[in-house]
Amino acid sequence: MSETWEPVIGLEIHVQLKTETKMFCRCRNGFGGGPNTQTCPVCLAFPGALPVPNRRAIEEAIKLGLALDCTIAARAVFHRKNYFYPDNPKAYQISQYDEPLCSNGRLAVPTADGDVTIGITRAHLEEDAAKNVHVAASGRLHGATATLVDFNRCGTPLIEIVTEPDIHDADTAKRFLQLLRQTVVELDLSDAELEKGSMRFDVNVSVRPAGSGELRTRTELKNMNSFNFAAKGIEREIARQIGIYEAGGEVQQETLHFVPGEEDSPPIRSKEEAQDYRYFPEPDLVPVHPPAALVERLRAEIGELPGARIGRIADTLSFYDADVLVTGGLDRLWSALVGAGADAKEAANVLSNQFVAAGVDPGTVNAAELAKLVAARAEIPRAAFDEALSKAGDAGFAAGPYLEQKLVADAGELDPVIERVIAASPGQAEQFRSGKEGLLGFFVGQVMKETGGKADPRIVNERVRAKLSGT
Ligand SMILES: [Zn+2]
Repeated sequence: MSETWEPVIGLEIHVQLKTETKMFCRCRNGFGGGPNTQTCPVCLAFPGALPVPNRRAIEEAIKLGLALDCTIAARAVFHRKNYFYPDNPKAYQISQYDEPLCSNGRLAVPTADGDVTIGITRAHLEEDAAKNVHVAASGRLHGATATLVDFNRCGTPLIEIVTEPDIHDADTAKRFLQLLRQTVVELDLSDAELEKGSMRFDVNVSVRPAGSGELRTRTELKNMNSFNFAAKGIEREIARQIGIYEAGGEVQQETLHFVPGEEDSPPIRSKEEAQDYRYFPEPDLVPVHPPAALVERLRAEIGELPGARIGRIADTLSFYDADVLVTGGLDRLWSALVGAGADAKEAANVLSNQFVAAGVDPGTVNAAELAKLVAARAEIPRAAFDEALSKAGDAGFAAGPYLEQKLVADAGELDPVIERVIAASPGQAEQFRSGKEGLLGFFVGQVMKETGGKADPRIVNERVRAKLSGT
């Protein structure tokens, strides 16, 4: 990247809450129902139907706001955001505008070079739109022969989180999104599954001459449904904008549709200005006044957040190890293993390699038993150790049977076996001594067989060679 340009990146994230019911009606909130089975007069916008806010959704938005170090508004107001589209039966979305529930927060993103703090402009509540299903082979609008509307998603609660343009590279943007996702999941507010769309994000990108402090025209990238796509899309857009400026051109304000695997992000539409939505206060809802006692109760429910845990564990292990453990959801098990006497680094290595490969839920593991195995890892045959990890989440899992398979590595136990094996094949021993090196494997194989596979092959190799050479 050119050193004379500084990227300026801001993010807008939508997280779908997993409340029992929708934001303003009592329809079930969740995936899986047949099309248009989770609807009622409120979310289908029948005349005269009135919204009633979901208390739980408000509490969860406050909780996330607290986790993001936001100010919780003493008075928050729902607004109507007016636009016409088939997925929006009221022709407005109930959202929040100039009096959002949460504002002025921050999230510290740990990196190898210390924390990068990203400002949170606001976090507000709104309702989702219905889902348009384009009937075409590609599933996309282009080339569709019909568009069907499924209103099950219409009116489901969303939290929209908007960051300050504090991010200056794609990797930090990706790390922020990953950390935010983990925070939301740990707070149990949302599944935040990117592939299901329960977490979605848009990215605003501009570039400016390094050190200038100005904000130039930005473009918005939509349709990012993976962290890697977001990073890739950002990098591509930064390069595109620098290319335009260096060729003497101007960047146009527009919304771009990220298509993975394709070189360009085609424009979807020119960006609407805020006043196009004609925001006005929702007359069917009173302002929300969160009681201080409620805010404090919610604050007390928040445990140590993932960013803080990465920082704490990085004091013991490297930043890299801490990051892998926390973002992999392994750090609580790691703490339990260390508490049960396992070596910190060894436990981290086992968890982030073999344990991950075994695919076991870390929450189901008996840490005291696993700690015994971690301590003996070097002496247990690899296959037995892997098998132990794959069973570590089973009820009644115990280290004992695997510890019994400890390798025989002691020369005192091995040497008599090796001597016996060599004595049994004097001809081959003679051939080895006269230069037929390949026969080493023959003897090693015999010794492994005699010890029932419990010998450490590396040590057997060394000892057999030494005995045959008469040293
Ligand atoms: Zn409904």
